[in-house]
Amino acid sequence: MPEPKNIFLAPCSREQKEGTYRHFQDTVLNGVDPSTYPEIPEFEDDEIAVWGVVSGNQSAWEQMDSGDVLLFYTKRKSYTHAATVLTTQENDTLAQKLWTPYDEGRRVEDITEGWPYIIYLTNIKRVDIHSEAFHEDIGWQTFYPQSFTRVIEERKERLVSKYGSLTEALRQHTQNDLGEAPEAITEETEQMLSETEREPPELMESETEYTETQRRVRSSAFREAVLKAYDESCAVCGAQRYSPAGNPEVEAAHIYPKSEGGSDDVRNGLALCKFHHWAFDNGWISITDEHEIIVREKPGEEAYDELTSFDGKSLSLPEKSDHHPHQIFLREHRRLHGFEEVSLEESIDAS
Ligand SMILES: [Zn+2]
Repeated sequence: MPEPKNIFLAPCSREQKEGTYRHFQDTVLNGVDPSTYPEIPEFEDDEIAVWGVVSGNQSAWEQMDSGDVLLFYTKRKSYTHAATVLTTQENDTLAQKLWTPYDEGRRVEDITEGWPYIIYLTNIKRVDIHSEAFHEDIGWQTFYPQSFTRVIEERKERLVSKYGSLTEALRQHTQNDLGEAPEAITEETEQMLSETEREPPELMESETEYTETQRRVRSSAFREAVLKAYDESCAVCGAQRYSPAGNPEVEAAHIYPKSEGGSDDVRNGLALCKFHHWAFDNGWISITDEHEIIVREKPGEEAYDELTSFDGKSLSLPEKSDHHPHQIFLREHRRLHGFEEVSLEESIDAS
């Protein structure tokens, strides 16, 4: 990534500007298909993210260059998305087509003005930049951008002298604690639950694909997605217990463990009560491809009744078969814990 010349800040907080936020979802997050809008210049990308600003912000917009970074402030105290500028264009016709009024015909304040100063964007990334901390670093006494803003020279210099470059400043700020960004987790959870319909499972989580922040978001989202899929009940015994504060007892277990690089995929997950999570992770129990519980036998030793009573029983599974534990993970769990040294098919092939 080349160093951006400028950083721009765009307010579109869901709380304050519902209409603006929906435009952000429509034309930035979902993207626009250039083939349906002849007004859009030709780009290499099949889908392009588009944003616009009102005439009052024209002078900041005019200083925008290809490669600059635009941060979107979409929730209280947080920039949640970053994008790279491809180019800009004054295009009122496109603006009128893209951003039609919301709220049953009532024109949202900003839209009445029109957003003719168009910005074409690429490389939309989820970030979690705490606005207060970021603004403090640029010497700005506010926690939200009131309007489309360019980070001016003296503020940029503060970042460069502290971090060495704007890129590094953004990178450092992106690594904030995610306790502040439950929305990112909710989005990721939804995505995890829906991607099982189209994406085949991968045994291992790709390490290079995610930043540290994204990994933490995925990890929290994995827990939420698994608990949701299993209705907060243990897949082995069905227990559904809550703390006095209302937190579920069940935990989201990885079938092929995280320590082995196992992926944060709902199909690599099981909701288990604490006892059955412990038993599963330590190899007292495993699961067949047909989702039946197998309990380990130790000759000469009596197994726990709380386990043996489930031997051969079926797991309580999520409603959607797309969310069921996948064989590629189940096999690895059996292999790891010695339930399956060589599979039957393999031993037949070998003989
Ligand atoms: Zn249980």
